[in-house]
Amino acid sequence: MLDHLYINAAYIVAAAFFIFGLKLLGKPATARKGNLFSAVGMLIAIIATLLSNQILDWNWILLGVAIGIVIGVAASRLIAMTAMPEMVAVFNGLGGGASLLVGWVALFGTVNLFVAITVVLSILIGGMTFSGSAIAWGKLSETITSRALVFSGQRFVNSAILIALITCAVMFVLEPAHNSPYLYAVIGLACLLGIMAVIPIGGADMPVVISLLNSYSGLAACAAGFAINNVILIVAGSLVGAAGFILTNVMCKAMNRSLPNVLFSGFGAAKAATEVDGEVHPISAEDATLILEAASSVAFVPGYGMAVAQAQHVLCELGELLESNGTEVSYAIHPVAGRMPGHMNVLLAEANVSYDQLIEMDDINPRLDSIDVAVVIGANDVVNPASRTDENSPIYGMPIINVDQAKTVFVLKRTMASGFAGIDNPLFFGSNTRMLFGDAKTSISSMISEFKT
Ligand code: NDP
Repeated sequence: MLDHLYINAAYIVAAAFFIFGLKLLGKPATARKGNLFSAVGMLIAIIATLLSNQILDWNWILLGVAIGIVIGVAASRLIAMTAMPEMVAVFNGLGGGASLLVGWVALFGTVNLFVAITVVLSILIGGMTFSGSAIAWGKLSETITSRALVFSGQRFVNSAILIALITCAVMFVLEPAHNSPYLYAVIGLACLLGIMAVIPIGGADMPVVISLLNSYSGLAACAAGFAINNVILIVAGSLVGAAGFILTNVMCKAMNRSLPNVLFSGFGAAKAATEVDGEVHPISAEDATLILEAASSVAFVPGYGMAVAQAQHVLCELGELLESNGTEVSYAIHPVAGRMPGHMNVLLAEANVSYDQLIEMDDINPRLDSIDVAVVIGANDVVNPASRTDENSPIYGMPIINVDQAKTVFVLKRTMASGFAGIDNPLFFGSNTRMLFGDAKTSISSMISEFKT
């Protein structure tokens, strides 16, 4: 058994590792190190907690560790890169659920007014995060429709649930007990509110919801930390809460939306984007390669389809071939391309694309009209010019990578299908656009073969 002082000292060291890890996570070049630092911090925190004298029964803890290791190892090996966002949603949800349970367990000890308030907060936010994340998982994996679900009177229903929830929470705080009917009501209503809060959000707005739920899971953990008087849970929870909130803001800015607008407007539910029609110009891999060979500047614009096709390695190889041919090659990154923040950065880093070739949206856009060929690899919503031109479009006002302004555009995708937001894309009908239909990895591999012959 370690003295309380040593335990808290270990927690401070763990917190320093978390903060330093977070800082390193801010740049692709140092992100791996950041992950490692944070993991070491977590290990220190877990060991310190296990050595503290509050452990009642080691058997359950060891069983939990064993189950956790099996699930963690299996998930890291089996989950495809494209399913990562769903996994993040599951993690957020489990974090919320865990805080709910920790808060509940705290009621079996001495409960004063402060503990009762923190318990009800951890249960309320934890429950909302748990059920909201389950719905977000369903939308991201398309187990349920990814479109916004809105009905008349929705705000009234949500307000009624919120009022009932607050009333039950107050009643519970006035007479706290681990089997209070008000406690069960808070759990049920919080889970219901989580579902109701996420169903009206859909389409391109999902990135904001994921980061907001991430932030909530941190707040729930922080409240649980206060409930059981555990310093490291309070620190780690506030870090996750703050980081998630900063990310939410970044995402809102990337989509040119305010948070209330994302949360309450029901993406795409009220508006119907103007349907697009026109002539499509397909191109073969052979002809596309000839044009690329003659280009002096090429910008690759990856999107979710690159992740599906796992085309990042062949894309990097094509980039190197073009560079050796004297072409200036860059990779344009949209902040919400793919299905999670930084998705494209992670994939391109995995393929060893040099970091200085990755250009942010705001930096590439002013240069696009001087680029010879913009090659869109499985991106759709993030290059949809309707966001500039169609006031009826649900994505109107969202900044995009303006590939339509390049001299020539190649779009690599399998069909004319829409992207995550479920709306048509006039880019595909542009006079300077050529559609290279097929799986992105197969198309790029064909171009590489053509290039080499
Ligand atoms: P989109 O979802 O708009 O489009 C992806 C395109 O990839 C599809 O049109 C699809 O067309 C194509 N595709 C799929 N598989 C392949 C394949 N094997 N080979 C070639 N193409 C393929 O992706 P974007 O990256 O442009 O936009 C991201 C969207 O996801 C935005 O709406 C964003 O808001 C949302 N989102 C983003 C999150 C984030 O944090 N980044 C989180 C949640 C949602 P086809 O089927 O014809 O091949």
